[in-house]
Amino acid sequence: MTDAIPAATGDRHIWLRVGTLLDGVSATPLRNAHLVYDKNQILFAGEQSPPRDLLNPEQQAPDADLPNHTLLPGLIDAHTHLFLEGGELDPAQRTASLHQSPNQLRELARSRLEKLIHLGIVACRDAGDKDGVGLALSQLSASPGRPLMPYIDSPGAAIHHRGHYGSFMAEPLEEYGSPAECVEARIRAGADRIKLIATGIIDFKKGAVTSEPQMTTEEIIALVAAAHAHGKQTMVHASGDIGIDRVIDGGVDTIEHGFFVRDDQLARMRDRNIAWVPTFAPVQKQLDHADLMGYDATVISNLKRILNQHAASLLKAHQFGVTILAGSDAGSYGVPHGLGLLYELQLMERAGLAPLTVLNAATGVPSQRLAFKDRFGQIRPGFRTRFILTAHSPLDSVTNLQKPGALVFDDAVLPTGAVDLSGL
Ligand SMILES: [Zn+2]
Repeated sequence: MTDAIPAATGDRHIWLRVGTLLDGVSATPLRNAHLVYDKNQILFAGEQSPPRDLLNPEQQAPDADLPNHTLLPGLIDAHTHLFLEGGELDPAQRTASLHQSPNQLRELARSRLEKLIHLGIVACRDAGDKDGVGLALSQLSASPGRPLMPYIDSPGAAIHHRGHYGSFMAEPLEEYGSPAECVEARIRAGADRIKLIATGIIDFKKGAVTSEPQMTTEEIIALVAAAHAHGKQTMVHASGDIGIDRVIDGGVDTIEHGFFVRDDQLARMRDRNIAWVPTFAPVQKQLDHADLMGYDATVISNLKRILNQHAASLLKAHQFGVTILAGSDAGSYGVPHGLGLLYELQLMERAGLAPLTVLNAATGVPSQRLAFKDRFGQIRPGFRTRFILTAHSPLDSVTNLQKPGALVFDDAVLPTGAVDLSGL
């Protein structure tokens, strides 16, 4: 597959013709479409023939004609914890890995990045750590001499309340005199966005979020205002409908997880332009590994009920027109980087979303909504040359992204896929 596509070296423009082109945003695919690009950016995408002046002198035919292939933007994971390795299933090893030095954590995280490229993933929105791993990788990804790696941005340490959930990835609000000072400190440290932990997490034994939300609505409003005053978006961990009410009232940019969201809350999220990152994978993995976790029948039935309810909410959210973003929560127990996103897409499809809706949620929709510092995730002039080509149509099923294909990434043409998620 990679042999069929010439690399975009020098000033040469590459001209491809593909059977199906997904631009990341549109609700319908382009058929028998043309794409012209150089190593920096896409120059043309459309069903009509490209303008002559964009083609190389004398070029009469496409460099490659791929009538059976689908072309789509490289994938974006909107929720990852790059400092954690979710594939580690031994709880003792997992705890030990958290106690490594920041340097060791950074090196390990860095060593996992190239693998993402070979899964077709071109960007990760990190969701926080307190050892500077995400911030260091964000800087690395923006540096001219960066290695082969996805675009990365990070909130640095998330913000939570001392003594409440999140101490492994957050620093407390109490360290500062006011929410505004706390946000300013994060931005001084290099945060690309602000991550808040507004609630606790699901108690699987009880099948509910039983703790009170950690943040008040007033605190959330103040933190969001401070972030917006600096031009930064907020990404907010919230599960349980009481906490979800508060973060909607707080006017956050994205709700992360959102388990137990109510239908009326979905409608308000749409009205307030709050996007949703449902992160099925970490909860599904609790069910997949129920034996390993020693869960009894009650917990297993709770997990199934929670996941079914979440799937129903995802369909509702789509019907209502809520902005939906794919995020794996990679780094969580059982959710490895890269493979975790492919699994998340599979779970979104299994919940009942059409493959194209799922693909858009992992490409053009986050590209439009998340204020990234670079242009990727759409097949449009001016966007980076970072796209997937595959003969296994992801419109039949997003699981086809697990089969071999190619990623065109700037001037490189790289093999992707050929993975088996059954052993995850
Ligand atoms: Zn997370």
